[in-house]
Amino acid sequence: MKITFCGAAGEVTGSQHLIECGGLKILLDCGLFQGSRAECRAKNERFLYKPDDLDAVILSHAHIDHCGNLPSLYRQGYRGPVYCTDATADVTNIMLEDSLKIQLEDARYLEKRLPKSAPRVKPLYEEKDVRGIVNRIESQPYDKWVQLFSALRIRFRDAGHILGSAITELEFEEKGTIRRLVFTGDLGRRNIPLLRDPATVGGCDVLISESTYGDRIHPPTSDIKAALLRIIRAAVEQEGKVIIPAFSLGRTQQVVYFLNELTNSGQLPAVPIYVDSPLSLRITELYRKHVTTSLDAEVQQTLTADADPFGFEHLRYIASQPESMELNRQSGPFVLIASSGMCESGRIVHHLKNTVSDPKNTIVIIGFQAENTLGRRIVERRPYLKIFDRDYPLNARVEILNGLSAHADAEDFKWWYECLAERSGVGQAFLVHGEARAAQALSGILKDYCDEDPIIPQFRQSFEV
Ligand SMILES: [Zn+2]
Repeated sequence: MKITFCGAAGEVTGSQHLIECGGLKILLDCGLFQGSRAECRAKNERFLYKPDDLDAVILSHAHIDHCGNLPSLYRQGYRGPVYCTDATADVTNIMLEDSLKIQLEDARYLEKRLPKSAPRVKPLYEEKDVRGIVNRIESQPYDKWVQLFSALRIRFRDAGHILGSAITELEFEEKGTIRRLVFTGDLGRRNIPLLRDPATVGGCDVLISESTYGDRIHPPTSDIKAALLRIIRAAVEQEGKVIIPAFSLGRTQQVVYFLNELTNSGQLPAVPIYVDSPLSLRITELYRKHVTTSLDAEVQQTLTADADPFGFEHLRYIASQPESMELNRQSGPFVLIASSGMCESGRIVHHLKNTVSDPKNTIVIIGFQAENTLGRRIVERRPYLKIFDRDYPLNARVEILNGLSAHADAEDFKWWYECLAERSGVGQAFLVHGEARAAQALSGILKDYCDEDPIIPQFRQSFEV
């Protein structure tokens, strides 16, 4: 078996690993590299293999750093199947459309700022490439072995990371022996709202494990619901607004679910709650569609008394632009959940512009905010925030609620590796999808369960195992 690391090696974007075994060429994930524009453009355009040589693509989940470059693969000649879970198929469709929209907006923005003589800025791919690859998706349920080729069968197990996310077990037949490979995709956590705990799987010859937070212990999630209740009650008393920037995929549905529970238990004050994002609405529809097959036992319990855990009396999803603009003029109290998560683009920026200067209002930060984003400047409680080229004083309260991370921490990994090792151990492990410090820390944990020391591969590196 030969493995080539074509992305997410020593970094967290561009997940892409090529497996050659049993006469097959299988690509695990085809994610977009995200970061500095010029460098990423080159990496996203130039694959390290010929796309039409691949026999199949296996997709772990629908985050853009795992699925976002699939249309480029189609554009460059790939016409084979893409295998993923049923929910991932639906979410990928929406996420790729959104990715194309963002690229078109970016291209327009850049073109306005470049000299007329500069070459035209083009998105990586077009609508026909998105449609082309989406039509190649062949979805599979969780927990069922599927024979993809005579020399390969696979099984998806729940990774507990986002809706539809999967750990993939691959069993290749090579020269009369079975070679077993396990790919974690992005591994989720135990005991987080909505999602099942990551499934534990049996040992393997080769493990490819993510390592994003391999050097961290997350704070517990249990007090987030209580914190939301406290913040909303205080806002109602002061007639203030509560603004929650949240990613459309995953985080928004978790917050809505908490608010739904608080409503069911009669604790939440009767205050209007808005989810202002067409993308969040479309993804929430998929949470509803896959609620029984892809969400956890607690949600199933909720369903026995409440047919819709993502809707309640005072909640409204806002799709149209005029309605969103109307909210800018509405006085408090109300709660507003809007994308994007790092406050850099979309409707949230307008809402923040209208709320940050009033001390009655509260901004609730519930997710990671990267450097050089408006979200990070809010977390740092800068006295002034630059929004649309104007400075606004930050007088609103800022509440930071950690603990909703969708990635396993060091303790989750240790638990998951222990389960893996209990059932026949690991031959060779590779740690991907993490920065050097995280991968090295995790290597220290993982090595106890492996025959060989884990390898932290670099971009373009290949290994025979
Ligand atoms: Zn992910």
